[in-house]
Amino acid sequence: MRAIQMVDLKFQYQKIRDEIHTAINEVLENTAFINGPQVQRFAESLAVYNQSKHVIPCANGTDALQIAMMALDLQPGDEVITPSFTYIATTEVIALLKLKPVFVDVDPKTFCIEPEAIRKAITPKTKAIVPVHLYGQAANMEAIMEIAMAHNLFVIEDNAQAIGCDYHFSDGSMTKTGAIGTIGTTSFFPSKNLGGYGDGGAIMTNDDALADKLKMVANHGQSRRYYHDVVGVNSRLDTLQAVILEIKLRYLDQYINSRRAVAEAYDKAFAQQDAIRVPFRASNSRHVFHQYTLILEGIDRNKMQEYLASHNIPSMIYYPVPAHRQKMFDAYASASTNLPVTDWLTERVISLPIHTEMEEDQLNHITSKVLEFINP
Ligand SMILES: *Cc1c(COP(=O)(O)O)cnc(C)c1O
Repeated sequence: MRAIQMVDLKFQYQKIRDEIHTAINEVLENTAFINGPQVQRFAESLAVYNQSKHVIPCANGTDALQIAMMALDLQPGDEVITPSFTYIATTEVIALLKLKPVFVDVDPKTFCIEPEAIRKAITPKTKAIVPVHLYGQAANMEAIMEIAMAHNLFVIEDNAQAIGCDYHFSDGSMTKTGAIGTIGTTSFFPSKNLGGYGDGGAIMTNDDALADKLKMVANHGQSRRYYHDVVGVNSRLDTLQAVILEIKLRYLDQYINSRRAVAEAYDKAFAQQDAIRVPFRASNSRHVFHQYTLILEGIDRNKMQEYLASHNIPSMIYYPVPAHRQKMFDAYASASTNLPVTDWLTERVISLPIHTEMEEDQLNHITSKVLEFINP
């Protein structure tokens, strides 16, 4: 059996090795390492795939969030509603821009921000909502967009973990996550579902004027070279990453199906176990399984991780400390915020290996060791 990893990037690469080498060599020969024509080509391919009118590539998913908030002209002190149960980048950029993160609780089934909690957190200072499609499943965007519309709020979808996820509205229409809110952001960090071979990110919108502003902010605040209208940043996607991502985008649906097949195998193996709750599948969202995350009930999680590790099975806690309990947010007295579901989940979640190259013997080894631990 091949060694089990949380994400097996090497095997995935080996399967597309020739295509990748050809594309990289072409960039090397042309030496347009920054802003090569392939960057715009990739942006257009992703726009078509994601049903977004505009895609603006940038340096990483954290920059994507920051640029989104800058382009919306949010002002110091403006309140931004966000889940605490997420990767730190989502909430960090809010504080970086001197905006106020307002942490709200998540739905215990979907792990995503709870619309009712958003409604209760709205004040006259609220300007934006940042839902996160955590682990690859969409937040309840229909409810979130209704709230945003009613209160005139921006919605920035943090789609770093859910690129390719279909969201179904109750009228029967379907939209990709990241193309629903005012702006969508994503990351091409190597382990993400659409991952490059280095850092990368993108910002999406259907709004023409906003697209121009996003491009400007990402490019030193200029739309005409050396004429800087607003304070911006320097955030670009390398040409090398763009050609790699262009190739991998063609495989994204296949990659998603492989991940979903792993999730289904896990679901089946754990179906009869009262001590573990398999990931909930929201009927309005097609889960793309960036992570396969269980909720453990009455099980010693540390001991389980040790047991799995002793059998060469990695596992991860995403995330061991929720944002509102991080020291960096002490100034907002966020630790006293009452987020019972977030705290409850933080103590109980565990993510098992999931990727596009999982083999049957690996899956069988993982499921049998998990079951062995639970039923000694
Ligand atoms: C990965 C990730 C980010 C940040 O992306 P980087 O490219 O690492 O900066 C932001 N939000 C979420 C939810 C993520 O998973």
